Amino acid sequence: MTEVYDIVIIGGGPVGMFAAFYASLRDAKVALIEALPELGGQPLALYPDKKIYDVPGLLGVTGRDLVTNLKEQMGLFKVDILTDTTIINASRANDLFTLTTDKATILLAKTVIMATGKGSFEPRRLQIEEASKFEGVGLSYFLSQPEVLAHKIVAIVGGGDSAVELALAVEPYAKKTYLIHRRERFRALEQSVKQLENSQVEVLTPKKVTGIERRANGQLQVNLSHIKEANVTENLLADQLIVQYGFISQDQVIREWDVAPERDLYGVLVRENFVTSQPGLFAIGDVNSYPGQADLIAIGFGQAPEAVNAAIRCFDPDRGGPGHSSSLIIE
Ligand SMILES: Cc1cc2nc3c(=O)[nH]c(=O)nc-3n(C[C@H](O)[C@H](O)[C@H](O)COP(=O)(O)OP(=O)(O)OC[C@H]3O[C@@H](n4cnc5c(N)ncnc54)[C@H](O)[C@@H]3O)c2cc1C
Repeated sequence: MTEVYDIVIIGGGPVGMFAAFYASLRDAKVALIEALPELGGQPLALYPDKKIYDVPGLLGVTGRDLVTNLKEQMGLFKVDILTDTTIINASRANDLFTLTTDKATILLAKTVIMATGKGSFEPRRLQIEEASKFEGVGLSYFLSQPEVLAHKIVAIVGGGDSAVELALAVEPYAKKTYLIHRRERFRALEQSVKQLENSQVEVLTPKKVTGIERRANGQLQVNLSHIKEANVTENLLADQLIVQYGFISQDQVIREWDVAPERDLYGVLVRENFVTSQPGLFAIGDVNSYPGQADLIAIGFGQAPEAVNAAIRCFDPDRGGPGHSSSLIIE
């Protein structure tokens, strides 16, 4: 029989991760579901190396380090985590939510907390026919640990912050790092471009990838052509090709759920304790909308315990709490 969760949290960005931890701290049976192969949401996918200064208690933390800390915190108690899984429908019958995944599985939940940000993320893919064949076997769109590419030949494609920063992060470990971009100039921060110029990364511009082939030794042959002179071509050999064209986020799947909550132009409308128009369904972080809402991590972190505590009151009204071990008694 499919097990029933007290709380399923949809979206493994910072807000969903903290909500999952807090739910586990309150001993709820909790699952966290994330569309991407890695937890982390916007900070990991969009700005892993930028320093965040407005999270309390952290004196400038990179997106990557914040996510690592949140993962570690979640490891303290039991949270069931499913990555690479998108919730494509939510329905409700007999006080239970049924959540359908894109992997044709279902989850049952007494309450659901949406922490879906601006929608599920998907990388912008390389637009060549054979790209999908190499995805996961030499071609990737995501890298959270540059050190796994130690002693490898790595080719990175893209011209924005994420491509330049990834090339700089990989270069100290890799045997050789290439950065391929279709324009002469990079759109990254000036300081990052300066660092790139002073690094060992070999920059190949203005060039685009026109094909990928597998060599007998397992390496990829990446075919390039000059943007302005298509007949000027070259090939390079690489162990790993990483495309950094950014991510697209789309919340269409959520709009089509059977229990689609009411929304306005900015997101899902919430009332007290961040409950939506659907009883038992909460929305926290960037996904929600109310007067004065702001898309900030600290704000989503504050909403998480409130929604979790309210969710617990839905299925266990007598539990009471939350308390903490050092609660003050005011006389
Ligand atoms: C460039 C940039 C810089 C920023 N800098 C700061 C800063 O300095 N300080 C600050 O406080 N904020 C900053 N922000 C905003 C901050 O990143 C967001 O407020 C924060 O990420 C919101 O967290 P979240 O968990 O609500 O959503 P997200 O981080 O968007 O995470 C949502 C997650 O839900 C997943 N998801 C969505 N739909 C589904 C589904 N149906 N099934 C499964 N998974 C799903 C997505 O894949 C995603 O991983 C910045 C944002 C950007 C873009």
